[in-house]
Amino acid sequence: MIVPHATSDKFIPIRIISLNMPYPIAHVMFFVFCICAVAVYTTIVALLRRDISYREIAHILLLLAIGGFFALYPDIMAVYNLIVHGNMAHCYIGAIPTHSLIFSSSAIVLGAIIGYVLYREQGKALYTGLFAFSASLSHLLLDDLEGTCIHYLYPISNQEINLFSYIGAGFTRDDLVHSLLVAHTPIIFLVVVMMLALFALSHLGFEFRYRPEK
Ligand SMILES: [Zn+2]
Repeated sequence: MIVPHATSDKFIPIRIISLNMPYPIAHVMFFVFCICAVAVYTTIVALLRRDISYREIAHILLLLAIGGFFALYPDIMAVYNLIVHGNMAHCYIGAIPTHSLIFSSSAIVLGAIIGYVLYREQGKALYTGLFAFSASLSHLLLDDLEGTCIHYLYPISNQEINLFSYIGAGFTRDDLVHSLLVAHTPIIFLVVVMMLALFALSHLGFEFRYRPEK
């Protein structure tokens, strides 16, 4: 959109960039406070009990920073295009849609490299990669919630899908199994992303367990 901007003697057009996506900070907050809610809760409890060292706090902040970066990973091309072309196009890297499961999968490799640099352990590198993957998937999840259609199945299918638009789809008796599956897919996707993040965190220093009453 071009908006005329009044100066002393003439109009200078100012280009306003339409983001058409959740603000970057919303992606980071969604991943940290919603997907990793249990980890945030346990950290706050440890802080209140003064049962945590500065070194552990630094480690948690580092993990959250990694999660925050990968929560923005599918929009990474916006940075490149802003610098090189002066626009915020961010949906493709070459012919590959950045909002797809295949592109998000590349976060595993990148996250594992970062994890290996940090921990020098193959196991922890893998869990850092899975944590990065869950953060990248959470980006697709929030974009989907906002109503954006995602190339989930690229390159198997080029169809753009908005999973959460199916959640209110009615059931048909003729095809009950299919309609039940479609209606619950967004919930299953959300659960998978959360479980993946918690699984990775449980191998990166967090402890989530049920304490039975005695
Ligand atoms: Zn996006």
